[in-house]
Amino acid sequence: MISDRMKNLHPYVPGEQPKDRVYIKLNANENPYPPSPTVQAAVIDFVKTNPMRLALYPDPDSLELHAAVADMLNRTGGVLCNAKVNGDSVEPMEKDLIPFTVTPDMIYTGNGSDEVLSFVFYAFFDSGKKLVLPEFTYSFYPVYAGFYNIETDVVPMKEDWSLDVQNMLYRAKKNGSGLIFANPNAPSGIALSRNDIRKMLEQSDPDQIFVVDEAYCDFGGESCIPLLSEFKNLLIVRTFSKSLCGAGMRLGYIVACPELVQYITTVKNSLNHFPIDAVAQTAGIAACRNPAYYCECARKVAEEREEFQKFLKDEGWEYIPSKTNFVLVRNPSVSGEEVYRCIKEDGILVRHFSTKGIEDYVRVTIGTKEQMDALKVSMKKIKG
Ligand SMILES: *Cc1c(COP(=O)(O)O)cnc(C)c1O
Repeated sequence: MISDRMKNLHPYVPGEQPKDRVYIKLNANENPYPPSPTVQAAVIDFVKTNPMRLALYPDPDSLELHAAVADMLNRTGGVLCNAKVNGDSVEPMEKDLIPFTVTPDMIYTGNGSDEVLSFVFYAFFDSGKKLVLPEFTYSFYPVYAGFYNIETDVVPMKEDWSLDVQNMLYRAKKNGSGLIFANPNAPSGIALSRNDIRKMLEQSDPDQIFVVDEAYCDFGGESCIPLLSEFKNLLIVRTFSKSLCGAGMRLGYIVACPELVQYITTVKNSLNHFPIDAVAQTAGIAACRNPAYYCECARKVAEEREEFQKFLKDEGWEYIPSKTNFVLVRNPSVSGEEVYRCIKEDGILVRHFSTKGIEDYVRVTIGTKEQMDALKVSMKKIKG
């Protein structure tokens, strides 16, 4: 009964969302803070003052949302934790300044960056060309490769868990394919600098797509948005799910030159021409218009991450220094599975992957100070 295509599907397994007990959730890299009060007000106002908008189709081009996203990027430089906040006003840190104005035609929004990524795979990766992927990166990329019947060429990580950039570039050239990776990468939390990425772009084929997934950039990475004026093959994917406290809203976006955005729009219009619902558009616009709130949230998460890493060091745990809202952590004498289980017993969920190579680790999402304090108490009890 099922198609041949169907046999190639190997679906992504998300972090568990248990219903049996209330856990402190540090397993899915969600933001521990609620959306800004202005987002909550905008959603209430949407339903109260104009419920007819639920009966009518939303703006298919999400124009107001795209303008709001572009404006937020111009105001923050695309790294929320670094931006200087003064009351409601926000300014990028010097090194994050974008040397041109991001315009709404450089933005595409979709139903979470997962949907956006799937359109990117459809538009830019050919099934005849082996797609180069780092061995450890966002585990949805190989899932999409299977979905679209694209073979992959998996490049092992370097000893220190960083991307083997030279090998990735070499193989992409050899295979005549584009490139995709997350920066900062997951689940390592390691970031390449903008200059590293500029060098990669200079060495790669300008006629091949170069995708950088910046899901975690706001917590301490360097955005490559400033490189967009120089490299027309660069496509950046970002999301509201992590730094914009909006995983439940399902909003992800692309920043790229208008020509690339147009290709993705064509894919969308060939599948479902109304992907972002009216409530998500409203909430997203309100979020983008209040960057000061989200800068504070990202800064708090980044500070809590540094605190946590200090704790790990003092307590003799091993970890990979992270620029994101999570840390990959390992106890030198207790298995990852056991660490996960002990912490869960204390009512806290972290993520354990049974994948070979990282099975000794757990990935801990950074929560509020109170949540991290509870986690530290639990971790202190774990001894080999
Ligand atoms: C969380 C995550 C996403 C998915 O984000 P959604 O917008 O919630 O679909 C994409 N890429 C990476 C690297 C992520 O960690």
